[in-house]
Amino acid sequence: MPNDKGVIVVLSGPSGAGKDTVLKKILKKSEKISLSISVTTRKPREDECNGRNYHFISRNLFEKMVQNNEMLEYVEYCGNYYGTPYKPIDELTRNGVDVILKIEVKGGRQVKKLCPEAVHIFVLPPSFKELETRLQIRGTETNEAMNERLKIAKKEISAALQYDYIVINKDSNQCAEDIFEIIQVEKLRAKRMEHTIKVLIDA
Ligand code: 5GP
Repeated sequence: MPNDKGVIVVLSGPSGAGKDTVLKKILKKSEKISLSISVTTRKPREDECNGRNYHFISRNLFEKMVQNNEMLEYVEYCGNYYGTPYKPIDELTRNGVDVILKIEVKGGRQVKKLCPEAVHIFVLPPSFKELETRLQIRGTETNEAMNERLKIAKKEISAALQYDYIVINKDSNQCAEDIFEIIQVEKLRAKRMEHTIKVLIDA
């Protein structure tokens, strides 16, 4: 192995917690942090781009990927499938790159089982009112879909205590800084530095 392995970071939080804005800021901080691009059967939103936000695929293709064991985890959320392809994560972490998986709570639990070394971070909105306002301003959902997302949000927030870290997104710059620091500290865990130690011993 040429490096200590990169860290797998599971980042969850209710829809409207502001994960996307925070993520953009984290990715700007280091070239050694990357975002896992999920596959989904959801339709792209107006400002979304295939291959950058998601790989938008058919249900048929998604089910084939599941059958071929290509997914690290997957869920059905609000009537659509979302999943994390395993291969890119494996390649990136082997090259010492930290990979952030922006996924919901059930998927996070699946990752915990398969990759116990992953770090789990939950992003909270400063208040539930703020969450509603953000979803309304985003305006990408119908009223019905928004209500469904708000219902799921309450359930998700109650799962936050199962995570390793909780960050509050009151200010996106501060929130990005908090998450960046968590990742840096996690990289210093002794169990992640076997390669560094071996190089020193073998010198
Ligand atoms: P959205 O439709 O707003 O893009 O995403 C809905 C929810 O699905 C968000 O909480 C998002 O983090 C989550 N999500 C996105 N990709 C994945 C994935 O690959 N797996 C899982 N489990 N959840 C995902």
